[in-house]
Amino acid sequence: MTAAASAPLSDDDSGLFPEDLEGLLRSDQRVDRVHKVYITRSLKLSSIRGIGFDMDHTLAIYKKQPIEELAFSATARKLAARPGYPPSMANLKYDREGCVRGLIVDKELGNILKLDKYNYVALAYHGTRRLLASELKKQYAEDIIKFDPNKHYSVDTLFSVPEVFLYAKLVDFIDSHVVRAKTYGQAFIDVRACIDEAHRDGSIKEKVCANPERYVNEDLNLPLTLHKFRVAGKKLFLLTNSDVTYVDVVLGFLLNGKLPGYTNWRDYFDVSITLAGKPGFYKRAEPSTPLNGSGETPKVFVGGNAHDLEERMGVSGDRILYFGDHTYDDILKTKRQFNWRTAMIVPGLAAEIKISQSERKLRTELYKLFQERDTNYVKITRLYSLVAKLRADKIHNYSRKSPTDLARLDRHTRSLTARIAALERNLSNVLGKINVKDRGLFRRYNKFWGSEFSAGNEISRFAGQIADFACIYTGKVSNLLAYSPNKYFQKKRIVMPHETE
Ligand code: IMP
Ligand code: MG
Repeated sequence: MTAAASAPLSDDDSGLFPEDLEGLLRSDQRVDRVHKVYITRSLKLSSIRGIGFDMDHTLAIYKKQPIEELAFSATARKLAARPGYPPSMANLKYDREGCVRGLIVDKELGNILKLDKYNYVALAYHGTRRLLASELKKQYAEDIIKFDPNKHYSVDTLFSVPEVFLYAKLVDFIDSHVVRAKTYGQAFIDVRACIDEAHRDGSIKEKVCANPERYVNEDLNLPLTLHKFRVAGKKLFLLTNSDVTYVDVVLGFLLNGKLPGYTNWRDYFDVSITLAGKPGFYKRAEPSTPLNGSGETPKVFVGGNAHDLEERMGVSGDRILYFGDHTYDDILKTKRQFNWRTAMIVPGLAAEIKISQSERKLRTELYKLFQERDTNYVKITRLYSLVAKLRADKIHNYSRKSPTDLARLDRHTRSLTARIAALERNLSNVLGKINVKDRGLFRRYNKFWGSEFSAGNEISRFAGQIADFACIYTGKVSNLLAYSPNKYFQKKRIVMPHETE
């Protein structure tokens, strides 16, 4: 990916500790766009009895650069120690813009694809080299991508972002023969195995546990948000793939002793499921194992399944609202299989909104240029049809026209043709300006991938998944603090294009 560096996006969004807790608990506050909850399905919080939370990238919002760099380096070091990979790989530099949520890896061809909502490839890289339109057409023709886990890998969580960028680097190495005797497919298997190991053997978690404040954003509004739901009579549960030792550190950092009456993170949740093993959690039969000492009422468990969890909570189906970040494991599966209501946490949302706000001038300029382009098209089309009429008039009525009339007709045709040429020159100038400004705007979001939510003129596959499977979405759980715990999140009526014209 050969593009100049742009300013990194800020992760700092820890929120303010509110002075007036009582006032805050009562009702809705005014909410700015960055902290808003966005609605894709109407959702009455008053009907929700149980609220569940995933932990990583949901309750715990990680600091992008440190956590991704940590996972990237740990994985690169493991790969460098494997036969067939150069030891210098251990020193590869991480680029936080190298990969974004929602992309698809084509493991056979060594490509990374950005799809639109309809699964057409809008943008693609081979390794870190952007594919030309002609290459794209040749490799993917007009076909939509039908997701096949044997061929493809989907970036469904921020945890997958570093490994896909590392894979892109490996594809470059294979092409330049720095790495020999490896197919693109084998390289992907190796990267996947190395990052999997890094998550399991403590290479990542030990560093986070030693220094949680370095990797996790403190959020003083989070304990208040959970408390607010509990005061409103909601039962809360935790459902995470992380183990209890890790949860103790991460949720301990975020929640322990932050509010009177809540010494330990366990005090916020009626049921806590650790090492859930999602998505297996939604289909396995074995019940969860309690972790508490004997004599206590069990509240913290290992593993189990979703029915077992619903029974323990005494709530099921659409009376449950689940907050998660993983498109498939947290949002799609729970909605489709158990009819849970879903809240998707999109940690990059705040940064996207801030960019779109700061680029308002550029977007207005672009809008004006699009209008100018369209006006030009209309004028040019009209003039072409006028010229056609004049030519037809000359041919059909040639014998009836005097030489003076014919000469006038020719002059008129020439003048119209000259006007068309001038308009076409202006149009090409406008299209050039659109191109430059469009590329500038694209790069402001991400120099390689543009906005996570758009793909060409469509919304991206990632945005489409949010629209299809999440009932609401927002940047972090504590954004809910500004809303009543019984809020009716009412979706705006969707209209067809003809209704807005
Ligand atoms: P959750 O999002 O709270 O359910 O937890 C995600 C857990 O999965 C974290 O403990 C991550 O370290 C872990 N994790 C993420 N990716 C991988 C992987 O590729 N292999 C093993 N564990 C992973
Ligand atoms: Mg998660």
